[in-house]
Amino acid sequence: MEYLDQKESPTFSQICTFARLPFSKSLEGVDVAFLGIPFDDATTFRPGARFGPRAVREVSCQIIKPFNHALNVSPLKDLNIIDYGDVNVVPGYIEDTYKKIEKEVSKILKTNTFPLCCGGDHSVTLPILRAVSKKYGKLSLIQFDSHTDCGDVYFGKKYNHGTHVKRAYEEGLIDPESSIYVGIRGGMYSERDIKNVEDLGFEILTIDDVYDIGINKTIEKIRKRVKKAKTYVTLDIDVCDPAFAPGTGTPEVGGLQSREIIRLIRGLISIDIVGFDVVEVSPPYDVSSITSILASWIFFEFLSVIDINYRNI
Ligand code: MN
Ligand code: MN
Repeated sequence: MEYLDQKESPTFSQICTFARLPFSKSLEGVDVAFLGIPFDDATTFRPGARFGPRAVREVSCQIIKPFNHALNVSPLKDLNIIDYGDVNVVPGYIEDTYKKIEKEVSKILKTNTFPLCCGGDHSVTLPILRAVSKKYGKLSLIQFDSHTDCGDVYFGKKYNHGTHVKRAYEEGLIDPESSIYVGIRGGMYSERDIKNVEDLGFEILTIDDVYDIGINKTIEKIRKRVKKAKTYVTLDIDVCDPAFAPGTGTPEVGGLQSREIIRLIRGLISIDIVGFDVVEVSPPYDVSSITSILASWIFFEFLSVIDINYRNI
């Protein structure tokens, strides 16, 4: 893929695409497609994540130095990556939007291209999982989040940014016994909130667990949990502390620092990952773009992991 050197073309110049990579609807020979999903009608508190993909694209001009010194790879040069544009979401109509998301992700998967998705609120993960599971069967789920999103009904409705895991479980898209949450914390209704999710079979690492055992042991636990299974990774930016990610819909205090989430992402090497999203970046609540900058670096580190994993297949 043509690479725009920032020594020739300044960082702040050119048309705004993800990491200044080409915008294309052609998936032929493409390894990774960045897909924006600007939908936030399913938030329960602060909206604004519909502007997430645009904000991440804008600051992702900063991640164009190709080399990752920590992992010794150059993902933006090694992989053939495109910006596939956005899903044509239907504001106010979640089920119509779900159909469109599933269709676009299925298109990407058809050419064995890796879907790199950017929300949007966390409700968008359900139709992605539907598409990915249709191709690969039942998936293991790694969810970095301060919330379990395993609620049943909000406001009398089944589809919401706090219910996608419950729906995915009911639809048989994910295997709870090989799935794991990392970073859970915040307000809860009762002790049943965590117990109910564990009773379904999921493993939960609360934020206190992560700090008690440390980042390396957390990575070990994640790897042990998913083993060799086809795995989907979803990252709600609110897993990070509001000091590092204020631009989000449902911030919870006492979360991960940016360097800790970066270390956790690097720890995903050798896991058989078949899809990834970063969700809940809400630019109207952001300060100096720090949340969208963090999200774009998470994408860069994740692409480095994919680069290494592709070499070892
Ligand atoms: Mn959350
Ligand atoms: Mn979430």
